[in-house]
Amino acid sequence: MADMMILRERMVAEQIAPRGVSDPRVLEAMREVPRERFVDPEFVDQAYEDRPLPIAEGQTISQPFIVALMAQAAEIKAADRVLEIGSGSGYGAAVLSHLASRVWSIERHPRLARMAGSRIAELGRANVTVLRADGSNGWPPAAPFDAIIVTAGGPVVPEALKQQLGVGGRLIIPLGPYGGVQRLMRITRASAAAWTEEDLGAVQFVPLVIEGGRNGRTPGP
Ligand code: SAH
Repeated sequence: MADMMILRERMVAEQIAPRGVSDPRVLEAMREVPRERFVDPEFVDQAYEDRPLPIAEGQTISQPFIVALMAQAAEIKAADRVLEIGSGSGYGAAVLSHLASRVWSIERHPRLARMAGSRIAELGRANVTVLRADGSNGWPPAAPFDAIIVTAGGPVVPEALKQQLGVGGRLIIPLGPYGGVQRLMRITRASAAAWTEEDLGAVQFVPLVIEGGRNGRTPGP
């Protein structure tokens, strides 16, 4: 345990803070969440390496720096209600649970959703709800959200997500071709009918699948 704490401290000091993540609450959350609990057993010794790792269903647990970058970009305050699309391992949702008052996280693969939910529950993060659904529809019962973080990328921003932001709310989403390089966008709802967009740089994410849509099967090569 102590070893893992040292590795987490080193991860923040070497991979995250030097690349421009300076929000102290985000850095603290990254020091708190045991990433080794969210990776498959054969990857535990690589849990604090500077890269994504494979998880079940051909998906990935995001690189720690990217998790921190997205959390900082979302400008989450302690009272905020946050929606995450793409629970994957559950790691990102666990990080968000340290920053927000309530977190809803949606995953399309039933097995991943189950595993993410039980890992988060084992850590006692009682303010997180993991749901099995198509996250491109958002989660209307809990809307509006102060922040929405999408951890999968595609060529379009689902309209439902823009509509489920409260005024002032931030949507962080990788936008671009499947299987290629995307731009990490921050879309802020300026008013009921206006959104502003900022480009936060190049990223590479697994596909955001729109179930029942033209890309209902996992797209890309
Ligand atoms: N935040 C995750 C990263 C997961 S990778 C972590 O920290 O581990 C992205 C996840 O998005 C994958 O598990 C994938 O199955 C899921 N996903 C893709 N399209 C989705 C959709 N439309 N709705 C919900 N989840 C989706």
